[in-house]
Amino acid sequence: MMSCALKCRAGSRTWTRRNPAVGERLGVLGGTFDPIHCGHVLLALSVRELLDLDRILFIPAADPPHKRSDEITDAIHRWRMVELALEGLDVLQPSRLEIDRGGTSYTVETLRHLRSDHDGAELHLIIGADNVCDLSTWHDPEGILQIARVVAGARRQSGVSDDDRFADRIIHLDTPLFEVSSTTVRQRLRNHQPIRYLVPPSVESYILDNGLYGTGDS
Ligand code: ATP
Repeated sequence: MMSCALKCRAGSRTWTRRNPAVGERLGVLGGTFDPIHCGHVLLALSVRELLDLDRILFIPAADPPHKRSDEITDAIHRWRMVELALEGLDVLQPSRLEIDRGGTSYTVETLRHLRSDHDGAELHLIIGADNVCDLSTWHDPEGILQIARVVAGARRQSGVSDDDRFADRIIHLDTPLFEVSSTTVRQRLRNHQPIRYLVPPSVESYILDNGLYGTGDS
């Protein structure tokens, strides 16, 4: 079987072509954003450019199904950091959809909402390539793929879905590698290491002002 990455890269050229008959080309980047970092912003800006998307919604999860809720920072803080990081970037917009819905944040439900709220929009669900293998474990992956094109940005730890139903349908893009994760940011803060250039300056200030990730501990 030809690898998913090869097939999709070749195919991605056709995906960038704008079809005047369709509506808005909308990107969706969901995540825990605990905290949001420059890797998220760079991923979104790169995908927007490569696929000629009109805008991308950043949707922080209320309660992500794959993470322990008692280990996640309060949604109020994660939301505010997303807002701060995206200030002045008109094409990247924060959305409270999952936070306001509350409960476990299933991507398929979010996409259904967006489909009914944005009639005729072409939805593009953006994930990091490290998440590709996990897609088959998400709630209703078939439903996700029926509503949205799933687009994977490059990560050093890339995956190719081993589930044939999904592998061929994921579009892999050559986005720039910027290997930062929220886990690294949290660890660095706990170790009193600098996070400059890993997160936007406004996010760094917010973290310090609110004593997040152990920065308030004496
Ligand atoms: P954590 O380290 O806490 O698991 P994370 O940095 O992976 O968090 P998430 O909020 O879980 O951040 O990620 C949201 C999406 O962004 C995921 O699809 C993830 O693969 C992608 N992503 C995260 N960091 C990067 C990065 N540096 N480059 C490209 N994609 C990324």
